[in-house]
Amino acid sequence: MPRILVIPGDGIGIEVTEVSVSILKAVGEKNGVEFTLERELLGGCAIDEHGVPLTKETIEKAKQSDAVLLGAVGGPKWENLDHHLKPERGLLELRKQLDTYANLRPAIVYGALADASTLKREVVEGVDIMVVRELTSGIYFGHPRGTERINDLENKAFNTLNYTTSEIERVAKTAFEIARKRKNKVTSIDKSNVLESMVLWRDTVTEIHKREFSDVALEHLYVDNAAMQLIRRPADFDVMLAGNMFGDIISDEAAQLTGSLGMLPSASIGNKGAIYEPVHGSAPDIAGKGIANPIASILSMAMMMRYSFDMDGAAAQVEEAVTKVLDKGCRTSDIYEEGKTRVGTEEMGSLILNEL
Ligand code: NAD
Repeated sequence: MPRILVIPGDGIGIEVTEVSVSILKAVGEKNGVEFTLERELLGGCAIDEHGVPLTKETIEKAKQSDAVLLGAVGGPKWENLDHHLKPERGLLELRKQLDTYANLRPAIVYGALADASTLKREVVEGVDIMVVRELTSGIYFGHPRGTERINDLENKAFNTLNYTTSEIERVAKTAFEIARKRKNKVTSIDKSNVLESMVLWRDTVTEIHKREFSDVALEHLYVDNAAMQLIRRPADFDVMLAGNMFGDIISDEAAQLTGSLGMLPSASIGNKGAIYEPVHGSAPDIAGKGIANPIASILSMAMMMRYSFDMDGAAAQVEEAVTKVLDKGCRTSDIYEEGKTRVGTEEMGSLILNEL
């Protein structure tokens, strides 16, 4: 029985996760799989209950689960706490504990929403990209790092961009394996014309491709060119693989092609577990109003079906149900356009459930 730890978190995290869980149960039933669900607190609600944003028990339960379904954390109530007590620290610590080295960020332009993009419909129509970003190494974690005084007038600040062969290999493998489930193409992004660490990146990706994934199409792009091509011809990309910093930037650029934050799911795949969560935060401005878009969370749950449980059929059922509801003109406030039917969080969930 697959074990899922459900962590709704704070604000709209609670509202959207509730909807996802009801769809998760229905999808399980439809496919003859019974999921074991446990619930835990994380973020502000954990601070209120336990005095810390993430407890040891929650870490243990997450490690023992096959996957974590997370909502969002944070809110104004906890903003002024010490840095180590902030809700977001709990989320970062959970990712660290599960050693989530690959961050998966799909960017899909739904036909029904193509006009919401800042780019022309004919450029973004059909866009279905998966950005695979290395998440636990690279310049955000490299040593030495710091700031030092170099003379009476100046400081010097420095960071280190380093990668080991095995760090590159494991995230590249994830990208190639995902490509095999999609359109079978990987675009690897680097800056090997300037940086030694990126020469190792390109050589390692090329080597593992030759050794294990020669059936997948592979192209290499320098990051500056990739940023341009992503705006010029986004529909040509399938899986985009990048290190931590380039992946951070490229995944936000890809997301922007699609229109709304309420539509963006994500997954963080690790050695000791996987976390599935919407890209958006706890949205305190709309929390409790019943108007949050639950689709990012629902699509995160669909990713869980595909990447943690190999239930590709179930994932496709959920994704198709979302597409049908959008095609019928139903919209939450964040993606509302004139002439469409405005629905709340729960109603959007029920409509998707009905299409399963
Ligand atoms: P946010 O993503 O919560 O909200 C940004 C804007 O988008 C808001 O106007 C919000 O109403 C809207 N929005 C977001 N998700 C939506 C949805 N599903 N449906 C409809 N509208 C939606 O970002 P923020 O306002 O910068 O941060 C709010 C809190 O969330 C902060 O405490 C921040 O630290 C935290 N945060 C948490 C995560 C996470 O848990 N992964 C990510 C980002 C921010």
